[in-house]
Amino acid sequence: MKLSVFDFHCDTAGEMLRSNQSLTHNSLAVSLAQATQFEHYVQVMAHWIDHRLDDQAGWEHLLSMHQNLLSDAALQNGDAVLCTACPDLSVHTSLLLSLEDARVLDGHIERVDQLFRMGFRLITPLWRGLTCIGGSHDTDQGLTAFGKAALTRALRLGMILDVSHASVESAADIFELSGAERRPVIASHSNAYEICPVSRNLRKDQIQSIIESDGIIGLNFCQDFLRLGGNAKFADVFPHIDYFLEQGASHALCLGGDMDGCELPSDLPTLSALAELSEQMLSHNYSEALVKAIFFDNAYAFSRKHLS
Ligand SMILES: [Zn+2]
Repeated sequence: MKLSVFDFHCDTAGEMLRSNQSLTHNSLAVSLAQATQFEHYVQVMAHWIDHRLDDQAGWEHLLSMHQNLLSDAALQNGDAVLCTACPDLSVHTSLLLSLEDARVLDGHIERVDQLFRMGFRLITPLWRGLTCIGGSHDTDQGLTAFGKAALTRALRLGMILDVSHASVESAADIFELSGAERRPVIASHSNAYEICPVSRNLRKDQIQSIIESDGIIGLNFCQDFLRLGGNAKFADVFPHIDYFLEQGASHALCLGGDMDGCELPSDLPTLSALAELSEQMLSHNYSEALVKAIFFDNAYAFSRKHLS
């Protein structure tokens, strides 16, 4: 089986800037050199804001990360194409952009429009703590008035909101705002709370709300979100997949590996291991159609419908 990969979350853009490495050849978990083995490769490049930076410095950091990515040789010579709508399958590698931790809007709603013009189509509004946007997963606070206004603006521009890292209360607000604009809600990199009860994973009713909104759920390979106490192997993703399938998420499940942003399982150190692991899934009696759906087809169908 020739595998295609569509992954909804990696933190490689920040790591490229931090370590001054290119997208094609690097020592990171994600590189284009590894992706050549896939039939197609689509990667959402999250722009994560380092928590040590204040909101204004974080905004400047975001601009640097974005500029660094755009000027990378792979984008300059066409080995990877930045897309703002459904990826074009006549090219091998497409990149989509997301902002992770929208506190860097820092009270400036016009920055949402600027992000859109820069090509961002996905926003993960929260990351940690209470910000100008609202409460993250480690709080019990919902969105602020500014958060609601900024995210409504994002929705009206055609951007998609992500409940990964949101508190239960903020996630409820995000479902409500997105529902009012008839837009889907995604969880770009979160697993099932019932299987691994940490605040970063999705509650049963949140999974239902995502499915009902026609959104998607990216399986996160971070050890701590796969298995309580960490020390997870790739196979620890299977109970999450089974649970999501029981909840009716067969058309919503995709990858959100969190590569270059977390401690990965020892048998999944880098992107290139995914091909072998897809074989492990087939041996585990998942059908070829399901494996393809999770690795590519569901995310692609979502972007055809909702990214324009
Ligand atoms: Zn994250």
